[in-house]
Formats: sequence, C-alpha cells, structure tokens
Amino acid sequence: MTDEDGALIVDARATLFGFDDRPVRAGIIPRSRAWRVGGAARTFAVFAVIAPFVAVFPPHAVWFLGALVTGGILARRRYIERFTLVSVDGRCPKCDGALSVKKSRLKEPHALPCEGCNHEPALRVPAEALPGLDD
Ligand SMILES: [Zn+2]
Repeated sequence: MTDEDGALIVDARATLFGFDDRPVRAGIIPRSRAWRVGGAARTFAVFAVIAPFVAVFPPHAVWFLGALVTGGILARRRYIERFTLVSVDGRCPKCDGALSVKKSRLKEPHALPCEGCNHEPALRVPAEALPGLDD
C-alpha cells in the first residue's frame, strides 16, 4: 500500500519502556542504489568544487580539508539512506498524543519525539515489512 506521494505505508509499533506498544503506520520510501550513489556523488562533487575557493582564506589547508571532510560525511549519510521515513500515523504509548516526524533517514530504532509528554517512543518497523533492495 502506498500513499499519494508514493511512500510505502507499513504497520509498525511505537514502543516506550514501561508502557504498552502502540500500533502505528509509517510512510517509508525505499531508496534505490542509483538514488543513493547519485546523491552521494553530487553532494561530494559540490564540496570538492567549493574546497579550492574556501582555501583562499587562512588557515588555507584547514578550510580545504574541512570542505572535503564535510562533503564526505554528507555523501556517506546519503549513501546509507536505504529508507526515508516520511510520515508516522499513531499515538504516543504514554500520553496518547499524536506522534509526528520530520522526513529523514529511517534509523533502527527511530526516535519519535512526543510533544505531549516530551518522551521519545521508538519506532520499530519489522524487517519483513520493508522491501528487499537490490543490494
Ligand atoms: Zn507522549
């Protein structure tokens, strides 16, 4: 099942120590290898182009290396983003408040900040709910 943005809607659970799990629906976009590699290469390329320009300012080598390292870190972040979490529809296990997320890389477990009680229930998506990727 997918939503209007093409995200896969999967059944998951919101867990918080000391409270009963709550079922939630998570919107997840699987990312292809091409999307991850292409995005990582573009990200690194941008910083590689910027590096000689920021190196004009002293201390030159620090800015140059800093730009390359930053590009590498951001590129790696893109490369490991196998799934993007775009939405969560569910309630907090503790206070029954609505949970919300910002679009970001799906982590395991993924923290879901609750504005109602300021706790962070963990989103747990069963591995079998996620599609297998080509790599
Ligand atoms: Zn709460």
